[in-house]
Amino acid sequence: PLPLDVEAIRADFPILSRTVREGKRLVYLDSGATSQKPRSVLDAERDFYETCNAAPHRGAHQLAEEATARYEAARATIGAFIGAPAEEVVFTRNTTEAINLVAYALSNAATAKEEQFRRYAVGQGDEIVVTEMEHHANLVPWQQLCERTGATLRWLGLTDDGRLDLSDLATVVNERTKLVAVTQQSNILGTINPLEDIAARAREVGALLLVDGAQSVPHQPVDVTTLGADFLVFSGHKMLGPTGVGVLWGRYEVLDALPPFLTGGSMIEVVRMEGSTFMPPPQRFEAGVPMTAQVIGLAAAVEYLQQLGMDRVQAHEEALTGYALAKLAEIPGVRVIGPPDTVARGGAVSFTVEGIHPHDVGQVLDDLGVEVRVGHHCAWPVVRRYGVPATTRATFYVHTGYDDIDALADAVREAQRFFGVAQGEVS
Ligand code: PMP
Repeated sequence: PLPLDVEAIRADFPILSRTVREGKRLVYLDSGATSQKPRSVLDAERDFYETCNAAPHRGAHQLAEEATARYEAARATIGAFIGAPAEEVVFTRNTTEAINLVAYALSNAATAKEEQFRRYAVGQGDEIVVTEMEHHANLVPWQQLCERTGATLRWLGLTDDGRLDLSDLATVVNERTKLVAVTQQSNILGTINPLEDIAARAREVGALLLVDGAQSVPHQPVDVTTLGADFLVFSGHKMLGPTGVGVLWGRYEVLDALPPFLTGGSMIEVVRMEGSTFMPPPQRFEAGVPMTAQVIGLAAAVEYLQQLGMDRVQAHEEALTGYALAKLAEIPGVRVIGPPDTVARGGAVSFTVEGIHPHDVGQVLDDLGVEVRVGHHCAWPVVRRYGVPATTRATFYVHTGYDDIDALADAVREAQRFFGVAQGEVS
């Protein structure tokens, strides 16, 4: 049996009771793109709007007070989930915006008139290090930062079996490195990266470390007190929460030394026509009326996950991943792109089917109610590295069961039959 009670969990997700493609059971294997939402999250958002909707941190009326209290309580809940105090939690729109926030703060630091904001300035001669398996969200903002500042982008490559190649870690991360940005779990390969080694090297050379937790925080226990990072970023919508809210966690001392990214209301201390001063973190990085309902919804998602237990969520997905890898290995012509076993690997399984373009695979799967992602998964350098045009990717979550993976394997065989590429009779 699986660690989680899949039937009971499915009953919490209203969308899972609908059918697709003329009466077929919805086999949702695309949680890596965005997750479905349990009723408690939907209720939390609705309850906020129905009972205390107001702009937090403004106005002296009762609704504003209640909205502020709920918003700040949610910040504490979400912080505790990753082992962080509330004042180190900054709300953004998503992972992408959180990374852009850091990248812009680092380039703004170079021209800041305030001495306190210049500490982490990036400029000519400095280096930023990423890896070849980054999602575009953790690559393009760094390319752009380098273009703005004259810094140089370097990267760690990949091994043939989908892992980070750390053989040149000591030269790629060096005294010129200002920041290392790396994903904790690859959205396309499923690989879980050895952050301890990278964190140790970053610390040795005095570089900041940003961890992209978009695919790890939803799926395994993550604790910033042992992570060894300066920043951790993730998206609410991938962890059972609403769209429109993401998190930037930063070590307070580092956040406090950074200038703002977006500016305007709610983040200022004093404003004069001649210039303005800014609030301390986290308010310094939260300009404008925040996504209050979404933050409250995300806190409900965190509570839902905590009730299941992140250790069990991880064990559940590991069991599913092992099952999926074995099932796909039984099908001739299927090639998994990424680690071949469950060692340091999460629940994202990418594959190709010999003789059928991934988009055609996706089409047949969709006709059968099996919803997967096809394409380059916003990690174009990865598909290029492995010499494929695209992959078909199945991702798992708390409501995924063995039946979903059986449906996937059956659908892949159906695609082979449909396109006439079945290699011998399959068992
Ligand atoms: N990083 C990784 C590893 C991801 O999987 C994703 C989402 N696919 C992102 C960053 C970007 O997340 P968002 O689109 O929510 O900003």
